[in-house]
This record gives sequence, C-alpha cells and structure tokens, in this order.
Amino acid sequence: MYTADIDPICKMHVDEKTQFKSIYKNKEYFFCSETCKKKFDELDKNVIRVRRSLKDKERISFGRLKREIIDPGICTLCGACVASCEVLSVINRKPALNGQCTACGVCYNQCPRTITTESSLIGSVQDVFSAKSAIPEVKGQNGGAVTSMLLYAFEEGLIDSAVVTVKSAEEPWRPMPIVAQTREDILRSAGSIYVHSLTMEALMTAIKRGSRSIGFVGPSCNIDAVHKMQNSPYGLLHMFMRVNILKIGLFCMDTFNYEGLKNFLEEKEIQLSTVLEMKIRKGKIIVRAESEHIFPLSDLDVYRNGSCTVCTDLTAEKSDLSFGGVGSKEGYTTVLARTGLGLELFHDAEDRGYIKIEPLGGKGLDNVLHEGKAKKVQMYMIKKRGALHIK
Ligand SMILES: Cc1cc2nc3c(=O)[nH]c(=O)nc-3n(C[C@H](O)[C@H](O)[C@H](O)COP(=O)(O)OP(=O)(O)OC[C@H]3O[C@@H](n4cnc5c(N)ncnc54)[C@H](O)[C@@H]3O)c2cc1C
Ligand code: SF4
Ligand code: SF4
Ligand code: SF4
Repeated sequence: MYTADIDPICKMHVDEKTQFKSIYKNKEYFFCSETCKKKFDELDKNVIRVRRSLKDKERISFGRLKREIIDPGICTLCGACVASCEVLSVINRKPALNGQCTACGVCYNQCPRTITTESSLIGSVQDVFSAKSAIPEVKGQNGGAVTSMLLYAFEEGLIDSAVVTVKSAEEPWRPMPIVAQTREDILRSAGSIYVHSLTMEALMTAIKRGSRSIGFVGPSCNIDAVHKMQNSPYGLLHMFMRVNILKIGLFCMDTFNYEGLKNFLEEKEIQLSTVLEMKIRKGKIIVRAESEHIFPLSDLDVYRNGSCTVCTDLTAEKSDLSFGGVGSKEGYTTVLARTGLGLELFHDAEDRGYIKIEPLGGKGLDNVLHEGKAKKVQMYMIKKRGALHIK
C-alpha cells in the first residue's frame, strides 16, 4: 500500500518507504532527499513541529502577514518571521520575501501581532449553543434567550432583581436602565437599543435598595465595569462583596449617539416614535416602522461612539454567559457559556422549560470568530483610516 507523508522542509509529498528518515521525540519524519534530511537534523525542531501541525490546516502564506501586519504599519520589526524562514529577510526596514513562499504559515503563527487562537478572539468558553425562548410572551431581539434566562433566574428565586435596559416612555428609543423586580419589567426589557445605557447607575440603585442576587445585562464595556468594581480594592469593593451578580454579556460591535441616530432617521423621514424594531445584520441596519428600511451601516459611521471605535471585545469576555445574534439562524441567539455557574444555570433553564437549546454548528462558531477578529483588529484600522498618526 502506498503511504505518503509531508517532507517538513520542502513540504513535498514523500513515500514513507524513502531512505531519508529521522526520528525526533519518538516520531518518524520522512524527506525527499538527503539535503532536506540534513536541514531537518540541523534545524530547531520546534519550528518543524509547528509546520507539521499546520499541514492539514488552512494554507497561510506570507501574503497574509504582509496584508494584515506589515502593510498597515503595525509590524514591530521583532524579526520573528525572518528568523523562522529562509525565504524571508528585512528589506528596506520591512520583512519581505527573497524566494518562493510555500504557504506553510509559520511566519504568520510566530508573529506577536497576529491573533491565532480562538480564546484570544472570544475569551475562554466552556460550551457554545444556539438557543431560543420557550416562553410565548417573550419577543426578543434574536431568540429571546436573554429575557428567558432572566425570567428563569427570577422565578426560580436565584436572583431578586435584574438590571436591564428599556425604552424611555418620554423619548422613543432612548435607553433607560432599570432595576426589574417583576415579570412584566423583565418582559418589557426584551430587544436591543443601539445607544449607550447607564447600566451601572441602576446596578448601584439595586445594591443600595438591598438586592443581594442580581442579574446584570450589558455589553462588554458594562460587564468590564462590574468586573472592576467587584475586584478593585479602591472605592466600592465593600458594596460588591455583599452581592452576587450573574453577568449576562451581549455581543456588541457598535453603539451610536442618540441624537445622531434620531437625525439620521428623520432625514430619511422616519420618526423614532414610529419605529418598532432596529436590527444590525451583515453590515446593514434594518429599521422596521410602517414599512421596512435598510441602510448600509457605514452611513451611520459618523454617529458611532468614539469609545466603540477602540473597543476590542465583541463577546463580553468577562461574563458568565454571553449572547449575540451572529452565528445563529434567524430567531435564535448564539450563547457562549463561560463559567461553571453560567453553564449550569443555562442547562437548568432548559430543564425547567424556559429555553430550547440546539448545538451551534461549526460554521456558526466560525462566524462568531470572524466577527470577533474584526473587532480585535479594529484598532489597527485607526491607523488605516488616518485618524491617528502612528509612525
Ligand atoms: C448596543 C448593542 C449592540 C449589539 N451588537 C451586536 C453585534 O454587533 N453582533 C451581535 O451578534 N449581537 C449584537 N448585540 C446583541 C443582540 O442584539 C442581542 O441583544 C442578543 O443576541 C440577545 O438576543 P436575545 O433575543 O436573546 O435578547 P433579548 O431577550 O431581546 O434581551 C435583550 C437584552 O438586551 C438588553 N439591552 C438592550 N439594549 C441595551 C443597551 N443599550 N445596553 C445594555 N443592555 C441592553 C435588554 O435589557 C435585554 O435584557 C448587540 C446588542 C446591543 C444592546
Ligand atoms: S514561513 Fe516562509 S514559507 Fe512559510 S508562509 Fe512564511 S514566508 Fe512563506
Ligand atoms: S514577526 Fe510580525 S512583528 Fe515581528 S518582524 Fe515579522 S511581521 Fe513584524
Ligand atoms: S462597542 Fe464596546 S464600547 Fe461600544 S458599546 Fe459596545 S461594548 Fe461598549
């Protein structure tokens, strides 16, 4: 039977019956020629191991390193790529090819500026799901999983209040953070408002009122604030030591300035008071009023909050559970269970009939990772857009 392997030096397929072999850490390596075998025996074997582990994965060429790191001007000139490959050298103060690239991916994976692991894109995760509410009254932004989780935790007595955001009664679509202490309050908080919400103020109100187990919902910047207040020895730690907070994070790419969003829609002859729903999907904002209007998200770039242009955490990495739209089919919410507590409560909510769970397919997770990466590297884009002058 013909068996083939990859020569770790030249990456050619070689017959395992070849006479050119080497054993390294109990593993046998095969070569096309004496030259490759000699190079292998002399080279740092760790580099070879990376090359081998990459052989079945996506082919990554130097072009990608050039496109993502060198051309945007964020290469630190550390020399890791050049040191890892014979066909690379520094030319005109930039790493460049001096021979044929075989797309082994080593340089890309060595570079300190590339993001190459799942956890560096979306934080640590124990399990991933697609979920939707099993409660008919819940009308959520995606699958209503957030609202149903809160209902479960509240009705099972696990939390005594929830910090959520509702629409202001005075100004349509102005976010109003509240301390929900009834089923009705939790139900009316369903849906997303793409404007910063002052959730920490409501959290402090809940604590001062004596709540001791609180469900808290917010995007990463809000979750980070809770995390800091829980852990910082300065200031308010003593208050946070007395409460348990279930941190429910929302994926978040952008929020917009309220007045800007309002003016934008009014220019299109859409009054905020008539808007029933806003959704962001695939680079578009979908506004449902008497009829449906779709605009490219880039039209709203000027109203994007400055804080969001430097934010690199899409999935609220410090949460117990994170929820988002990307990755799941219409009518479902993507859920990342991060902590043991989050995972246990999520399964219990299913057992008690509050949510329905499906596994998140590989493509769904790929989409989450893709969007996570877009967010992580957006700092680099600042340079591209010329907003900062980094030399
Ligand atoms: C500002 C913002 C930006 C988002 N961007 C993305 C994105 O780029 N990609 C993506 O996949 N998902 C994004 N999401 C998450 C998505 O819109 C849904 O919130 C999530 O999928 C949960 O859906 P659901 O139906 O389970 O939630 P629901 O059951 O509808 O519950 C929604 C929860 O969101 C809370 N909420 C609404 N607006 C705010 C706000 N401004 N601040 C704090 N909490 C709020 C409500 O209190 C409610 O508890 C964003 C959400 C927000 C609020
Ligand atoms: S390490 Fe060398 S051969 Fe491999 S992708 Fe980079 S430039 Fe190409
Ligand atoms: S490894 Fe990355 S940062 Fe270092 S020189 Fe190469 S491209 Fe630049
Ligand atoms: S993009 Fe970041 S800073 Fe902006 S609202 Fe979302 S989590 Fe907060």
